[in-house]
Amino acid sequence: MAKAAKNNTLKLKFDTINYAPAPESKSSATIDAQYDLFINGKFEKPLSKKYFDTINPATEEKLSSVAEANAADVDKAAKAARTAYDKVWSKMPAKERAKYIYRIARMIQERAREFAVIETLDGGKPIRESRDIDVPLVANHFFYYAGWADKLAYAFPNRNPKPLGVAGQIIPWNFPLLMAAWKIAPALATGNTVVLKPAETTPLTALKLAEIIQESDLPPGVVNIITGAGATGAAIVNHPDINKIAFTGSTDVGKIIQRAVAGTDKKVTLELGGKAANIIFEDAPIDQAVEGIINGIYFNQGHVCCAGSRLFVQESIYKEVMRKLKDRIATLIVGDPMDKNTDVGAINSKQQLETIHKYITIGKKEGLEIFESSCTLPKKGFFCKPTLFTNVAQSSRIAQEEIFGPVLAIQTFRTDDEVIEKANNTPYGLSAGVWTDKGSKIFNLTTKLRAGVIWANTYNKFDPTSPFGGYKESGFGREGGLQGLGTYLNV
Ligand code: NAP
Ligand code: MG
Repeated sequence: MAKAAKNNTLKLKFDTINYAPAPESKSSATIDAQYDLFINGKFEKPLSKKYFDTINPATEEKLSSVAEANAADVDKAAKAARTAYDKVWSKMPAKERAKYIYRIARMIQERAREFAVIETLDGGKPIRESRDIDVPLVANHFFYYAGWADKLAYAFPNRNPKPLGVAGQIIPWNFPLLMAAWKIAPALATGNTVVLKPAETTPLTALKLAEIIQESDLPPGVVNIITGAGATGAAIVNHPDINKIAFTGSTDVGKIIQRAVAGTDKKVTLELGGKAANIIFEDAPIDQAVEGIINGIYFNQGHVCCAGSRLFVQESIYKEVMRKLKDRIATLIVGDPMDKNTDVGAINSKQQLETIHKYITIGKKEGLEIFESSCTLPKKGFFCKPTLFTNVAQSSRIAQEEIFGPVLAIQTFRTDDEVIEKANNTPYGLSAGVWTDKGSKIFNLTTKLRAGVIWANTYNKFDPTSPFGGYKESGFGREGGLQGLGTYLNV
């Protein structure tokens, strides 16, 4: 009898993970065969005469050819941004600026489905995430900062806030459209003009945003969107007539940028890597915490700067948490990002998949215990099974270095002080999570953890009104909220 019951539960579990495919239609999205640079309100052929391919990481098929901006193209974009700043944008009444930002927000909402589909095709994240998280947050970010545009004097009383001028903005591939919104919306609200470069592997939604910006009648040159790889980013950083660099990406490139702008009068904000601790106390609601762990590290394939990539479980509940976590991992659906059932989509690029595999090999060589999902991966495309390591030492590279993939490092602890010390013992300080029933414990930890963002009894929740940013090697400056305005102003 007991055996039969066990078989039944196994069968049920099997059935629940065999959903019929529910693919999102591609018909809402048009992707052109070729994209030029968006400079001074027009799509212009690159002076470099060069183009590169962007592919769908889930199928390895080419989606489009995209212009590769060289230093001369960057110069052209910076000049357009300067002219627009001097002649139009810095002189426009703030409430008029706000109207354009509201219009862009509304147009994004109207074309939300198209943006979600293109984000998923170009970057590999599940359609459910692009549709329900990324794109709504993008529209909210524009709405939120549109509201601030004519209230800067109230935001910074008696400080006569003034824009900086031209902002050069460089963003990564993990939240392509959302990072563009985080950069462009506060810059426009504060009266700056923009030259933005998306990442090489995910340029398409930024180029779609350029189409919207063009249709919104935003004065030419206020926003310029230019595509390319690292060299294009470096040309933006080194351009003499750009007043501010806003960068989101790896700590390595962040350090290069900091060196490049040292001794110039450019202002800089750097949003860099992370190695967040997600901490589960014995009095936590365990089932919710397990969902939070899953959301923290397997959400967006772990391509999240604030991913809960280190898990600390209090010893007394370790066995229970591990059992529930492994059961939950077994039900995660890994595969076609365009399928609405998919939980874990494609790794963004072959190179990133190789990096993740390198770390999995390191973990095995270090003698850590590995557990991975038993799912079958698609034959084409870049995919990685949700993976976790246990028996992880504090000194392990798996616990110290950012992997940026669906790989979790698990450690145990006994006391608050012990976990605070372990959690703080990394070069990073972007985010953390605390799961407990006790408010006092939450306050104790949030004051002692060196992290810019700390979630309590939830994880990976974003809101335009909340400032986001890091300590230590996770960078400096804040995006979002009132604080996100200040970094685009002289006050
Ligand atoms: P990355 O390699 O540093 O690239 C970020 C951007 O910088 C890309 O547009 C890249 O161009 C460009 N770039 C590369 N070399 C450059 C150079 N020498 N000068 C100027 N720009 C240069 O980072 P990634 O691998 O795309 O993104 C993952 C990283 O971003 C992770 O470390 C993650 O933690 C971090 N991240 C942080 C936050 C945050 O808010 N703190 C948010 C998201 C991501 P190409 O890609 O075209 O080469
Ligand atoms: Mg791509």
